[in-house]
Amino acid sequence: MKHEMPVLPYTNDALAPVISQQTIDFHWGKHVQTYVNNLNNLIQGTPFEDASLEHIIQKADGGIFNNGAQVWNHTFYFHTFTPKKGSAPKGELLQALNETFGSVGAFKKQFVADGTAIFGSGWVWLVKDANKKLSIVKTANGDNPIRNGWIPLLTFDVWEHAYYLDYQNRRADHLSALWDIVDWNVIYDRY
Ligand code: MN
Repeated sequence: MKHEMPVLPYTNDALAPVISQQTIDFHWGKHVQTYVNNLNNLIQGTPFEDASLEHIIQKADGGIFNNGAQVWNHTFYFHTFTPKKGSAPKGELLQALNETFGSVGAFKKQFVADGTAIFGSGWVWLVKDANKKLSIVKTANGDNPIRNGWIPLLTFDVWEHAYYLDYQNRRADHLSALWDIVDWNVIYDRY
């Protein structure tokens, strides 16, 4: 099974200035395309040749895991955003955020702080467990919380390639700005 490059639900210039067209051209168009190409090359002749990305994340190691997880992580990440600003958590999700973190503002602050604290490359995640309990989880490099039984709801990419063209070394400023383009309706549906 050949893994295909997913199609984004917006144009590459639609998230500017929070994420510039140049960053999406490189981050999505070059980095993610490379993960897709590497994955397709690596799985040939292995037990993962016809496996789903979720199966690869749960069972594979080494290059197949790294590239498969990075395809999944980036697809999930880029499908969290919308050019339409101003969405907010609602319903059961809003209630769970308030109960777990005190308020939506406190959650956002903790999420950015945890993402900023990751040393080197990785991802910060909002996840739920089987009982819909929320947690913030940090992972290194291409790692994904599905591997540990969590269900991801939201992630921010903290690899430098995600923000260096627009924010240089200012990771915290970049992560804080992302809230403007997060589509909470998508996260609500995942919850
Ligand atoms: Mn990335």
